[in-house]
Amino acid sequence: MTRGGTKLTPQKLAALAKVAAAARNRAYCPYSNHPVGVALVTASGKVYAGANVEVAHYKGVCAEASAISAMVTAGERDIRAVVVVGPSMQYLCTPCGDCRQRLREFCAPDTQIYSMWKDGRHGATHAMADLLPQSFGPENLQEVGALPQTKSAAGAKTAGGKQKKERVKNKATKTIKKNKKNVSPGSLRRRNARPS
Ligand SMILES: [Zn+2]
Repeated sequence: MTRGGTKLTPQKLAALAKVAAAARNRAYCPYSNHPVGVALVTASGKVYAGANVEVAHYKGVCAEASAISAMVTAGERDIRAVVVVGPSMQYLCTPCGDCRQRLREFCAPDTQIYSMWKDGRHGATHAMADLLPQSFGPENLQEVGALPQTKSAAGAKTAGGKQKKERVKNKATKTIKKNKKNVSPGSLRRRNARPS
């Protein structure tokens, strides 16, 4: 799959800002009162919009996640540009930490993320790799394998290992009990009562 960012022309950016702003205006965010809209452009040239959706248990979905869900549901996985429109003229809306990781899954390091002011004007542009440097991604999971067996793990398989494990467990339990004893209210009282 060819990956890479697409630099948007000012006209295209303005058009996408309108799509993102329209999504933002439909956001459901009665708890944060912080509506956000996103427009993603994919390799096919299609645009997927998303708004944040909150629920009473506070585990809401960000606008980026909404747009990514729409994109993946439609069968696409290659983001070429991202436009985010927040609700403020003072604090520019960049993707949150969670969404940086989500975007990173489907973006190239040079994919541009455009943050727009409330009125749709351009605020800042960041490359994906700048928003999430030294990131963890699908590549990290490509090389998988068994870890070398540790001594205790290997020993635990034998009868002797089992007994040893039991002894360690008993010792740990005794240590916990002993530590508890040391900090019990009674022992503190006794310690305080001791003449200095
Ligand atoms: Zn987010």
